[in-house]
Amino acid sequence: MLFDFHTHSFLSDGVLLPIELIRRAIVAGYSAIAITDHASVSNLESVVDSLIADCRLAETHWDIRAIPGVELTHLPPAAIGDLAARAKARGAQLVVVHGETPVEPVPPGTNLSALRCLEVDILAHPGPIGVELAGLAARNGIFLEVSAHRGHCLANGAVVVAAREAGASLLVNSDAHAPADILSDDLARRVAIGAGLSEAELEPALAGNPHRLLDRIASRLRRG
Ligand SMILES: [Zn+2]
Ligand SMILES: [Zn+2]
Repeated sequence: MLFDFHTHSFLSDGVLLPIELIRRAIVAGYSAIAITDHASVSNLESVVDSLIADCRLAETHWDIRAIPGVELTHLPPAAIGDLAARAKARGAQLVVVHGETPVEPVPPGTNLSALRCLEVDILAHPGPIGVELAGLAARNGIFLEVSAHRGHCLANGAVVVAAREAGASLLVNSDAHAPADILSDDLARRVAIGAGLSEAELEPALAGNPHRLLDRIASRLRRG
């Protein structure tokens, strides 16, 4: 079982067409992949519409759960709630927010604004988030990301410590932009162990929490 809720196609700054990304994910052993291209007011509708089309094509012909999403990226924090709602209304099944990674000048306040928004599913690479914000993630059911991406992964240890203390749920994602970034079972496990997860914490991060997120998406789709 291999899951990945944060990847990019060439609809933003990845190198693959969405359908090729999905095809390569199947070959790598994925059960589910979300494609979450960078989005703002400039491109939100076109990205979501395009991802819906290729995800639908993949699910029609292949045995994979392909989820059209967005990663709201470098937005003014006050705009995150509105854009997250717009993405969902357009048909995005998953909203990721590009968190305050240690390696990019993400506007301060992004983590807080994302974690207050119930339309947000995952706060990606939040940086050295404290226990207070991790507690907000736990209360609002927003997953915190352990990132396999170079640079972003520098704060994984701090994310794990805060999430553990606050009871927040973790996911391991690739943030893939190219074929070489696609996860394997072994790599996902090594990223989790390297971030400091204990043996007992591996199953929730690698399987339990992904299943909970998939169930949440499925129940939203049933409600329409
Ligand atoms: Zn990117
Ligand atoms: Zn990303």
